[in-house]
Amino acid sequence: MLQPVGVAQKHLADYQSIAGRKMIDEIRERASRLEGKRILHVSATAFGGGVSEILNTLVPLMVDVGLQCEWHVIYGREEFFNATKVMHNALQGSPQDLSEEQWQTWVRYNEINASQLSEDWDVCIIHDPQPAAIRSMVPQNARRWVWRCHIDLSTPNPFTLERLVPYLEPYEAVVFHLDEYVPSGMDGRSHTVPPAIDPLAPKNMAFSPEDAVYICQQFGIDVDRPLMCQVSRFDPWKDPLGVIDAYRIVKDQMPDVQLALVGSMATDDPEGWDYFNATVAHADGDPDIHLLNNLNNVGAIEVNAFQSHSDVVIQKSTREGFGLTVTEAIWKARPMVAGDVGGIPLQITDGQSGFLVSGVEDCAQRALEILADPALGKQLGRAGKEAVRQRFLTPRLLRDWLELFERLEV
Ligand code: UDP
Repeated sequence: MLQPVGVAQKHLADYQSIAGRKMIDEIRERASRLEGKRILHVSATAFGGGVSEILNTLVPLMVDVGLQCEWHVIYGREEFFNATKVMHNALQGSPQDLSEEQWQTWVRYNEINASQLSEDWDVCIIHDPQPAAIRSMVPQNARRWVWRCHIDLSTPNPFTLERLVPYLEPYEAVVFHLDEYVPSGMDGRSHTVPPAIDPLAPKNMAFSPEDAVYICQQFGIDVDRPLMCQVSRFDPWKDPLGVIDAYRIVKDQMPDVQLALVGSMATDDPEGWDYFNATVAHADGDPDIHLLNNLNNVGAIEVNAFQSHSDVVIQKSTREGFGLTVTEAIWKARPMVAGDVGGIPLQITDGQSGFLVSGVEDCAQRALEILADPALGKQLGRAGKEAVRQRFLTPRLLRDWLELFERLEV
C-alpha cells in the first residue's frame, strides 16, 4: 500500500470567525449530501512546497465535515525524482525534455505505485504530474478520478506536454489554478480553482508584533531598521539575485535598509544548493543581507515572523504557479511588491492591494515608495488582507472541492 500521511485534527467551526458564517453554512450543507464518501488524495511528497501545505489543512477539514478522506504519498527513488524534476521544469517552459529512458522510468514507477494503490474510492485526486499515469493503469480503483495541477502550464515544452496528455485524457476532471494554464483539448473537463492558505496554521496565525520582533532578532535582524524580505525556494524563477539587485538600489537611497532572503532547502536538491551558493556569492558579504534556510532552523513560525515584521515583502518571481508566499504575506497585512506573473496578478490589484512589477528597477522604486510612506504600506496591506480573506482561505477551497464532487456525481 502507498504510504498514508498522518494529519492533525482540524475543525471547520474554528474558521467561522474568519471565513464568515455564510461560507461555513454552505460547506456544511454541501458536505451533508456527500457524507461518508471515500476521497483519496495522492501526491509525491508530504513535506515542502505548496501541495503538502494545502493538503495538510484540506485533508483534515474534509474529514471534519464527514468525508472519509485520506492522503497517500507515492514511492520513488532518485532516478524517478530526477525524471519528474525534468518533467516539472519542462512543463513550466524549460526546453529540456525527458530522455527516452527517463520517460520509461516515470512510467515504471507509476506502474509500481498503481499496483500499490488501495481500492474502493469514490474519488481519487492525483496531484501534479509525478503520479499522473496511475489513472490509466488502475481505472477500477476509484469511481471518479481528478487530476489537480499545481504548476504553471501556460508555456509548456510542447514535446513534454504532448507525451503527458494521453495520460490525462481518461480523467473525469482536471483542475488548474488559472484559466491560462488549461492546455487545449481539455474542454468540458477542466475546472479553475485557485489554491488557498490556512489562516490558523502556524505559518499564518496572528502573531503579536512583539513575538515577531523577538524571533527576527534571534536571526540577527536589527528590528529598529527597515526590513525587506522574500520567502522562497532558491530557484532561478524566484529571482533571488534580482531581489539583491533591487535591494542595492534601495540601499543607495536608504542606507539603513536590510534584506532577508528566507528559503528552505531540500537536502536532495543539488540544484537548490547551487542556486543558494550563487545567491551567497551575489550577496558578496554584505552584513545587511541575511540568507536563511531551514538548516538555520527556519520553519513555519519563523517564516510567519519574517513576513509579519517586514516593512516590505518582495516576491520578485519571473515565473510562478500561483505564489502561495504572496498570499501568506498579504494575509499578514504587509505591503507586497511582486512580479506580474502566474497567479500573482490574481491576488494583487496593482496600486490597491500591493504593487505588480516586472523588473529590478521597478521593484526597487516601489519598495522605496512604501518604505518612505508607512501610511501607504498600511493601506496596501489592509486592502490585500481583505482580498485574501474573501478569496484565498481554505474554507473557500473546501467549498469548491465539494461543489466539484457534486458536479461529478461522486
Ligand atoms: N516555504 C517555506 N519555507 C521556505 C520557502 C517556502 O515554508 O523557506 C513555503 C511557503 O511558505 C509556501 C510554499 O513553501 O507555503 C511555497 O509555495 P509557492 O506557491 O509560493 O511556491 P512553490 O515553491 O510551490 O513554487
